[in-house]
Amino acid sequence: MLNIVLFGPPGAGKGTQSERLIEKYNLVHLSTGDIFRANIKGETELGKLAKSYMDKGQLVPDSVTIDLLRSEVEKYKDPKGFIFDGFPRTNTQANALDSFLSSINTSITMMLSLDVDEEELKSRLLKRAETSGRADDANPEIIENRIAVYKKETAPVKSFYAEQNKFHGIDGMGSVDDITQRLFDSIDAN
Ligand code: AMP
Repeated sequence: MLNIVLFGPPGAGKGTQSERLIEKYNLVHLSTGDIFRANIKGETELGKLAKSYMDKGQLVPDSVTIDLLRSEVEKYKDPKGFIFDGFPRTNTQANALDSFLSSINTSITMMLSLDVDEEELKSRLLKRAETSGRADDANPEIIENRIAVYKKETAPVKSFYAEQNKFHGIDGMGSVDDITQRLFDSIDAN
């Protein structure tokens, strides 16, 4: 299996690039943010809980997120692989993902981590807010909080994969097509 963690701060382009990667490599796209938003739309209990964190730009608790991810992975029979987009976001999640994947006889192949300047992130998120309808994209204070949470809780996950020699930093600046090509090159060289 080809199991990729597509990593990066909010606004780095993980969702956009995931769409291209799943098409080329025939993978399943799992975005915890998308799953939470679908639950909010469907007014489920999970959606209500997730919304209370997402609206403030905070992380949904690990236990809830890990259980959700596990049950999503289990829905697919014989997949070619997964793109994990927006997961893991803490070292606890990364550890849980490793143990879970090993229990089903697979593992993470590589982490692709998109690097984007902070000013560029903020402008991309505000632009996305015009069409995404996402409250967490529209408010500069929430954006600041999401970036701060990323730096403090999520960025350390890079070291988790670097220690396993699975970390690949990718320049996430420039055109969408150029960034896609860098991702393809990194996967194909692996
Ligand atoms: P995203 O769509 O990846 O930008 O995620 C939107 C929001 O969903 C985040 O700001 C978090 O509140 C929540 N979220 C998504 N994925 C996770 C995760 N792996 N762990 C905790 N919270 C998450």
